[in-house]
Amino acid sequence: MIKTSYIDHHAHVYGTGYKSLHPKLDHTNSIDEVLTVIKSILSKLQPEQWVVARGWDQNKWQEKHFPTYESLDALSSTIPIVLIRIDGHALWCNSKALELAKISKDTPIPSGGDILRSASGTLTGIILDDAMQIIYDAMPKEHSHSIKQTLLAGLQEFAKYHIGVHDMGIPAEYWEPYKELYLTNGDILPRAYVFLDMSKPTGRTLFLERLQHEIFDDSTHNNLKLVGIKLYFDGALGSRGAHLFKPYSDDTNNYGLKLTDDTDAIELMSLAAERGLQIAIHAIGDAANSRALELIEIVKHQKTTSKNTIFRIEHAQIIREEDLERYRRLNVWAIIQPQFYQSDYQWAIKRLGAERIGNAYRWKSLLEAGISVLASSDSPVEEANPYTGINLLQSRSYERVSFEEAEKMYLESPLD
Ligand SMILES: [Zn+2]
Repeated sequence: MIKTSYIDHHAHVYGTGYKSLHPKLDHTNSIDEVLTVIKSILSKLQPEQWVVARGWDQNKWQEKHFPTYESLDALSSTIPIVLIRIDGHALWCNSKALELAKISKDTPIPSGGDILRSASGTLTGIILDDAMQIIYDAMPKEHSHSIKQTLLAGLQEFAKYHIGVHDMGIPAEYWEPYKELYLTNGDILPRAYVFLDMSKPTGRTLFLERLQHEIFDDSTHNNLKLVGIKLYFDGALGSRGAHLFKPYSDDTNNYGLKLTDDTDAIELMSLAAERGLQIAIHAIGDAANSRALELIEIVKHQKTTSKNTIFRIEHAQIIREEDLERYRRLNVWAIIQPQFYQSDYQWAIKRLGAERIGNAYRWKSLLEAGISVLASSDSPVEEANPYTGINLLQSRSYERVSFEEAEKMYLESPLD
């Protein structure tokens, strides 16, 4: 067994593998650069295939606003093209992809998502958060063999740095391939702690199904564990999906997205808490963080909740002063991504304004408030290199943490 001392507390193994096996858009700095990459893929395509690539970020472009389907249609209007934003919270589609997913200007907008339209009501090709599932459902289904290959490619990225990983949210389809991989190769694979994604219908079904068994975790090797569930309470800051108390400073009617309604969240959390599982809640905006704490407080005080339950807030990115104390009191883990600070800071200040940015990317203040802070890359959003994170954590004048504190954030918790 590989002894890995560091662990990435929040990443996406499949997404990481997918990215390593597909053309990347991370280094593109303009729409034209994105289009050049896509053009090169189009010529190598098999019939029936969709063009899918990940990593664009309009904040790095001169125009700064979301692109539209038209520029992709100029490359092809007969082959479906879907480009995933760097953070995985927005899709940029051409008209063929929209057509195959049966999205029209009259498609009702699912709660917790958005289908962006122009001022005149026509589709723009940008699909946000929970609405993205409509596109994913229209894509050709992947075979279990290729899922296994992709997971393996993802795990290799973590193995490169000799670290383990918390895989933050899989649909049910990945679990059998995961088990098969570890059954044959478990000794040489990094430790993976897997969470089921409650925003995916199959993830939810598998969770409820596993609860019927005496042993929740039916993994096949010591290096693989099924440990809990992941819920989404909001989207991301870059696509203005983070749920805020006050509107975005650069979009003054927009408060972001509130995902998963309270009743549904409490029900899922209660079931997981009875089993003493880990409950990971994605919360970026200050309103999402506050709501997560509120619901955690309710579930924590239920009689059926096991003492072993771990409550964790993923990203913990914008937190009001008064909520720091609630984090501590409720013993909620804060899972941060140091690299986000470096990647997002330029535009984050525009989203939040000069005052509110003080509540964002709080590293030292979380520690000083007595909160358990753990670090991660959110790979494939950022590279899975823990040393980059450890360096960044020591780099700021305010919110700077020491080397020892930074390293501790990447160490495995005794509860794992
Ligand atoms: Zn993530």
